Amino acid sequence: MTTVGHFIGGEDILTGARTQAVFNPSTGEQCGEVELAAAKTVEEAIANGKAAYPKWRDTPPAKRAQVMFRFKMLLEEKADEICELISREHGKVLHDARGELQRGIENVEYACGIPELLKGEHSKNAGPAIDSWSEFQPLGVVAGITPFNFPAMVPLWMWPSAVMCGNAFVLKPSERDPSSVLYIAKLAIEAGLPAGILNVVNGDKEAVDTLLHSPDVQAVSFVGSTPIAEYIYTTANANGKRCQALGGAKNHAIVMPDADLDNAVNALMGAAYGSCGERCMAISVAVAVGDEVADELSKRLTEKLKTLKVGSGLDNSNEMGPLITAAARDKVVGYINSGVEQGAELVVDGRDLVVPGFENGYFVGGTLFDKVTPEMTIYQEEIFGPVLVIVRVKTMQEGIDLINAHEYGNGTCLFTRDGEAARYFTDNVLVGMVGVNVPLPVPVSYHSFGGWKRSLFGDLHAYGPDSIRFYTKRKTITQRWPASGVREGVAYSFPS
Ligand code: NAD
Repeated sequence: MTTVGHFIGGEDILTGARTQAVFNPSTGEQCGEVELAAAKTVEEAIANGKAAYPKWRDTPPAKRAQVMFRFKMLLEEKADEICELISREHGKVLHDARGELQRGIENVEYACGIPELLKGEHSKNAGPAIDSWSEFQPLGVVAGITPFNFPAMVPLWMWPSAVMCGNAFVLKPSERDPSSVLYIAKLAIEAGLPAGILNVVNGDKEAVDTLLHSPDVQAVSFVGSTPIAEYIYTTANANGKRCQALGGAKNHAIVMPDADLDNAVNALMGAAYGSCGERCMAISVAVAVGDEVADELSKRLTEKLKTLKVGSGLDNSNEMGPLITAAARDKVVGYINSGVEQGAELVVDGRDLVVPGFENGYFVGGTLFDKVTPEMTIYQEEIFGPVLVIVRVKTMQEGIDLINAHEYGNGTCLFTRDGEAARYFTDNVLVGMVGVNVPLPVPVSYHSFGGWKRSLFGDLHAYGPDSIRFYTKRKTITQRWPASGVREGVAYSFPS
């Protein structure tokens, strides 16, 4: 059986520490195990980063960009291998893994251009013979902690920008699907990244807490569920670290009576059931404006769900794979049970789905509820599974009020043909990433990604321009070079 270890100082490391089983969710079989790093292994990773940092900080940004260019080429060359690793441990279908990897590659492409963004600001003659400039200096060793649902993409949101800014990075990926991350880290070294600039430690709370308490870690980027995001943010702050912690979501799509319903239904199918609903940008609530829209949505989604092809992630003809673990499947089934108990109308029930030949896989079929109300648990909580709920409202304003009252504010979408309604919606909805007829408004790599309310703790969003601000510190330098022979008097008043 393969044991996945750590990648420290450019070397694969196994320490004989505690392990956790890794499963193929499509078959339910154990496909390996992963070591859970002890504190001293994490400290070793941090020490490696600290030792490699000074030379990398002083490496010209253009040379760093050359490494990133080579790394991008290797990611493209090895895409099939990477996607198979993702699919085997995560369960998402290969074409979906390819989409994830492509978005990650775009973050690497953005990072290649970071020298342009590190140029800083310059003012000549800020005073007599005085020039002043601001520059963006790296922080030192920074850390990233990432979730299971995008094992390749979310780490690529973080470390390429961080190292292009001149930092060293320690990554603690999800212990549930660790293999693609290690594979990608080795490609970075093959591309010429110096050993120690990117270190990967697998582990659980012990590894995370070691990062949060280390005086040598300057900043922490986190992506995962909201309770853990809040813990990471408060603990990192209490230890004097800069932190951005992205959390969970409950994304609503409002469907207006004037919307193109065919397009809206297709968009909802992909956004609710793609990746088995295990996306922080998945649409999990369809807010229908008027009973006519709701009835039509329910009917058309039911029809589509009859043909949704669910099966192994490694079979590219499938549209939806399994959930990540048996525990995740049981949790989703528990939510469906609670919806029934609390009086929602279960229109399509995915609980009893069996995939022939994959009877032990962690499958739940696409599920649809109608007549869901805001006090129900299936409305309030993030299910993170293939469950879409329809909530009926009378006006768009009622829909916006619902969204604004929800604890999460990650993504949302309005389906309409009315420009005035769209403008009102984008102005007034309290959500960080907003779509109009775009169900998954995931910002492209040269914007930044982040939600509002309890979907993000911290001030700066992930990747794009915000990542340069997050992974650097501004320093402002003021220099005077008077002509020789000029004598300056003593000044006791504030310089002006
Ligand atoms: P998770 O919070 O369980 O785990 C995320 C990371 O935190 C993992 O590396 C895990 O090892 C670590 N962790 C877990 N428990 C911990 C603890 N008690 N102390 C310290 N560290 C701990 O999340 P997950 O199940 O891997 O991912 C799914 C969640 O992530 C969903 O809530 C989803 O919405 C969210 N997510 C958010 C975004 C976003 O951009 N906002 C993106 C992807 C996923």
